[in-house]
Amino acid sequence: MKFISAAFLATLSTAAAFAPSVQPRASTSLNVLLPKQTGQSALDPAVISKYDALSFPADKIMAEYVWVDADGNTRSKTRTLTPDKAEAVENLPKWNFDGSSTNQAPGDDSEVILKPQAIFTDPFRPRSDGLKNILVMCDTYTPAGEPLPTNTRAIAAAAFEGHEDEEIWFGMEQEFTLFNLDEKTPLGWPQGGMPSRPQGPYYCSVGPENSFGRHVTDAMYKACLYAGINISGTNGEVMPGQQEYQVGPCVGIDAGDQLMMSRYILQRVCEDFQVYCTLHPKPITEGDWNGAGMHTNVSTKAMREEGGLDIIKKAIYKLGAKHAEHIAVYGTGNELRLTGKHETASIDQFSFGVANRGASVRIGRDTEAEGKGYFEDRRPSSNCDPYLVSGKIMSTIMEDVDAPVIEGLNREEA
Ligand code: ADP
Ligand code: MN
Ligand code: MN
Ligand code: MN
Repeated sequence: MKFISAAFLATLSTAAAFAPSVQPRASTSLNVLLPKQTGQSALDPAVISKYDALSFPADKIMAEYVWVDADGNTRSKTRTLTPDKAEAVENLPKWNFDGSSTNQAPGDDSEVILKPQAIFTDPFRPRSDGLKNILVMCDTYTPAGEPLPTNTRAIAAAAFEGHEDEEIWFGMEQEFTLFNLDEKTPLGWPQGGMPSRPQGPYYCSVGPENSFGRHVTDAMYKACLYAGINISGTNGEVMPGQQEYQVGPCVGIDAGDQLMMSRYILQRVCEDFQVYCTLHPKPITEGDWNGAGMHTNVSTKAMREEGGLDIIKKAIYKLGAKHAEHIAVYGTGNELRLTGKHETASIDQFSFGVANRGASVRIGRDTEAEGKGYFEDRRPSSNCDPYLVSGKIMSTIMEDVDAPVIEGLNREEA
């Protein structure tokens, strides 16, 4: 990670999980790839089409089992199954992997059990015979059936259990930053330097001088739609090379499953385009460049109905009373992003406001005008764990307490 200064790395030495970009890389050999048109697909279409043209046997499908590793990144491996197994997640067999290779189990008892939780259509292995190859979102257990400590899905599932009547929806805005394969030059940036124009023209932009990596985001968008992910949109972000997509609204635990699978698909698309993607919340610390977050939009059934605004405000007061607990699970390196600048609030101080993008939590103008709707928690970082974030929000707002009223900071429309 040479685009990040030594001082920056020092601040991250305590950051263990969910910081895919900050793990030291062993080799610098990728540097030689930069002149080789990174950002272009590395695949020779003639070679690939030879294999794409092969038909699949009618009694076999490929199932890619995906799980979350000890650092919050996705991993996967494939197996062959009969098509009937893919009809329902309950029909899919459990599987296992060598947890000693992912820091998820000791070497002398290394088997980790993969339990299938959600099925998606595999966009990377389309077939034309009416059957589907699949992606399977799994979570992880010991052979005795205990969730691993890194199985945050189990924590979230416990928070949602018994609250199905609340019909909680989450809409997650996943920001990400695309780099050349040297991992230090964001797409559209000059090697070793910075864009000549400051932030301003890049957000939702068009034109070759403003928009970088659209082909990657578009490919990911289509692949997610094909997979059955409830992706609701995409946009170019404020920092050149940074982009966003939104997943949702999704109900309860499904939000974490879909968001995790969307990250897996994004990484796979980046393999094809030979672009490096980081979810780090502040990939560029020098200069005046926005960080990356995962704003989380939330509503319960009661919030979406008449009188919902009152319920939204009470939920926000509860969030305010537990600010530090939430920040603790909202992603590593987030202190570099939540500075109070660049459309963020301070990490130390909870705030909320209508249409205020400098607040921790924002109520949209429409929600205020209609007296019902949803709120946006702007604090989670782009590398946060969506299971931990959704589960923590659920458990906090379901508590039967009257938290102290917090005055809104209705500052500006940004
Ligand atoms: P922003 O204006 O902050 O950029 P986006 O349009 O990027 O917001 O994302 C908003 C997300 O919130 C979308 O995924 C959308 O589907 C989701 N959303 C919309 N309505 C609700 C709701 N009632 N509850 C939860 N999420 C919602
Ligand atoms: Mn957005
Ligand atoms: Mn955004
Ligand atoms: Mn937002």
